[in-house]
Amino acid sequence: MSSPEGAPRDVLPVHLLQGQKALVTGANSGIGRATAVALGRAGADVVVNYVVGPEEAEKVVEEITAFGVRAAAYQADVSDEEQVVAMMDRMVREFGTIDILVANAGMQRDAAFTEMTLAQWQKVLDVNLTGQFLCAREATKEFLRRGVVPEVSRAAGKIICMSSVHQMIPWTGHVNYAASKGGVQMMMETLAQELAPKKIRVNAIGPGAIKTPINRDAWETATAREDLLRLIPYDRIGDPEDIAYTAVALASDLMDYVVGTTIYVDGGMTLFPGFATGG
Ligand code: NAD
Repeated sequence: MSSPEGAPRDVLPVHLLQGQKALVTGANSGIGRATAVALGRAGADVVVNYVVGPEEAEKVVEEITAFGVRAAAYQADVSDEEQVVAMMDRMVREFGTIDILVANAGMQRDAAFTEMTLAQWQKVLDVNLTGQFLCAREATKEFLRRGVVPEVSRAAGKIICMSSVHQMIPWTGHVNYAASKGGVQMMMETLAQELAPKKIRVNAIGPGAIKTPINRDAWETATAREDLLRLIPYDRIGDPEDIAYTAVALASDLMDYVVGTTIYVDGGMTLFPGFATGG
C-alpha cells in the first residue's frame, strides 16, 4: 500500500519499538495521526491524545490495535496544566510508564502583524510552546522515576518536539506561529542539554510543507500547489508518513546517539531554493 505521493507504508521494522509506550499529542489528525499509527506498526503501545474529535481518535486507536499492540484515546488540552498532569498519571496507571513522547499538537491563527490580536498571539504560544513544555515536563518526571530499562531501550526516555522549518525561516503573516516554533527550538536544545546526562534524548523534527488540514490553503488548488512547489527543491509536497517514519527512527535505539538535534524533513525547503538561480 502507498500514499497518494508514493510514500511506502510497509517499510517499518515491526519489532523496532516493541515493549515501548508512546504518547502522541494531537494524534487524531495529520502528522500526529500518521506518527501514532507508525509507532504502533513498529511495535509500540500508543496513547492517542486529542482535544476535539473523539470519533477520529477512536479510528486511530482501531488502526493501531490491528497491529496487535495496545492503544487508547485520551482527551486533554495540552495547554492546560491540570489536564496534562491527569493525562500522564492515567497513562502511567493504565500503560505502566511512558518511553516516547511526541509533542506534536499545534495550530495556526494567522493574521497580518497589526491585525493580530493578543488572543491570537497567546493561543498559538499556549498550544505550540507551553503545551510542549507541559507534556515534556510530565513525561520527564516519569523517565527519571523509572530510569533506563536496557531490555526496552538504551535511553530512559525520548522526547520528540514537532517544530517546523519556521523555527529558522521567518514567515510573514504568521508571527505567532514562527515565534512559537523558534521557542520550541531553544526549549528543545536546552532540555536536551539538561537531560542528556540522565539518558533522556530530546530532539525535534522540522517538517516542511506536509499535506494536512493545518495548511489546506497551501496545497488544495493547482495555483497554490505550484507556488508551494517553487519552495521545495525535491519537487513534491510531503506526506504525513514522511514525518511519521522519521519519528519512529528518532525514537528508536537506531538513533541513540542523536541528542539535541532538529531533523528537517522538508524536501530541501531550508536550502534557500531562491538562491538556485539568483544570489
Ligand atoms: P493538524 O491540524 O492536522 O493537526 C494538529 C493536531 O493538534 C490536531 O489533532 C489538533 O486537534 C491538535 N491540537 C490543537 N490544539 C490542541 C490542544 N490544545 N491540545 C491537544 N491537541 C491539540 O496539523 P498537522 O499539520 O498535522 O500539525 C501537526 C504538527 O506539525 C503541528 O505542531 C504543526 O505546527 C507541525 N507542522 C506541520 C506542518 C505541515 O506542513 N503540515 C509543517 C511544519 C510543522
